[in-house]
Amino acid sequence: MDIFIKNATIVNGIGKSIFKANIGIKEDKIVYIGKENFSSKITINANELILTPGFIDTHSHSDFTIIADPQAEGKITQGITTEINGNCGLSAFPMFEETLERRLPELKALGLPKWNSIDEYISLLKNVNPSINFATLCGHGNIRGSVIGYKNVIADKAKLSKMRNLLKKQLFYKVKGLSTGLIYTPGIFANTEELIELAKVLLPKRGVYATHLRSEGERLISALEEAILVGIKTKIPIHISHLKTSGRENWWKIDTVFYLIESAQREGIKITADSYPYIASATDLDVFLPQWIIEGSREEIVSKLKKESVRKEIAKYIKTRGKKFLDSLLISEVAFEKDRHFEGKKLGDITKLENAHNFICDLLIRSDLYVAVIYFGMNEENLIKILSKPYVMIGTDSSSRSTKGITARGKPHPRGFGSFPRFIRKYVLEKGILSLEEAIRKITYLPAKIFKIHKRGVIKEGYYADIVLFDPSEIEDTATFENPFGISRGIKYVIINGKFSVENGLINDIRNGRILL
Ligand SMILES: [Zn+2]
Repeated sequence: MDIFIKNATIVNGIGKSIFKANIGIKEDKIVYIGKENFSSKITINANELILTPGFIDTHSHSDFTIIADPQAEGKITQGITTEINGNCGLSAFPMFEETLERRLPELKALGLPKWNSIDEYISLLKNVNPSINFATLCGHGNIRGSVIGYKNVIADKAKLSKMRNLLKKQLFYKVKGLSTGLIYTPGIFANTEELIELAKVLLPKRGVYATHLRSEGERLISALEEAILVGIKTKIPIHISHLKTSGRENWWKIDTVFYLIESAQREGIKITADSYPYIASATDLDVFLPQWIIEGSREEIVSKLKKESVRKEIAKYIKTRGKKFLDSLLISEVAFEKDRHFEGKKLGDITKLENAHNFICDLLIRSDLYVAVIYFGMNEENLIKILSKPYVMIGTDSSSRSTKGITARGKPHPRGFGSFPRFIRKYVLEKGILSLEEAIRKITYLPAKIFKIHKRGVIKEGYYADIVLFDPSEIEDTATFENPFGISRGIKYVIINGKFSVENGLINDIRNGRILL
């Protein structure tokens, strides 16, 4: 045997009660679970540590960062061993025409070359040896942007068939499904019929339709109904990304949300969701503007933002939402160097209500629309209800970043470094909203089953040795909104495909992730 772990307290992923056993690993697989002892190249005495399958980050955005920074420190140190990327309509492929054009600034910021196809992307990935297992969805935005561009037009039959064919090509590569981002351009321009027609392409393999709903606040209910309709019409599994009730005036909708999801489940529609255990979300500042303003090309949007009449409309809109709205938005990253000092500050602290419209427009123009924000728009009570649901997994909704290098920039949401330890510490061990067995099931076996991550997510002989050992008395997130790059505590060992990536609580340079494509 290569690794022998003695006296482990095992939570095996399928929700069964905790048991004690020894675990043997040979090459990349678990080869023994039981009471016997074996000699081995490396032996660890687990003592009080809890052993679980490696965590699966259901909602990841590492498509670009994993190439710029394949170590993925923030993810590995949380115990994440597999990421599902390509969420919210954005994947690393295909990137033709306007899709590529739109994403060039991001590629440039990370020092990455251009590419178009999934083949080119896979070869880039292989070259960097990611530390973490890479699985991905295909982004609807990539498909629409490559075929139609970023225009507000309905897809005609010819375009629809082009999009279907392009999606079909991606599915040859074990892509896990289709993701949509219906608040972002160009996803926002797709009607329900287009979503259904594209989702039907997934049918032979029953890939997942994962969706960032058209609205998470004001029109949350109709947006959820649209996602369920896709499930009814196509019979493919539906996954709601970062399930939430966004904005104080929408918190009351949570029970209707559960009612709709669970009624559909009873009708036979498979529906799951993911959530990150924080009451703040992170997105782009421009998505808070009325839809007619963010339509069109980047140049068109910028020229709209310069117009006095448009600014007046924005002023009216901000006034109706009030000072509370400005206080709930924190600037996390800007592209314009001289505005960097605004990072980590709340809009309410840097501009007055009367002038906020001008401030926001100028800020967006200077950064060529690249302004990322953190929005404090959720409440704890609903978050607990969401995290408690048996069909809700955990997703960081973050890209992989590290404490050093090109990804150690800005003030991103702390969920990129802390989500999984926070879920276990705060919600499971302290608040006790779930048993540990159930919590681990939701972050290992459940996502592996839904997204078809084969032979992972369970501690079982013959399965891949993706394993986490953590100290239940120590496990805790340390990343905060002020210091989002804080490494989590208590994750003692992380094994990926049979090799240690974290030993005695410290990350090493071994990059043993697999590309699950
Ligand atoms: Zn999203």
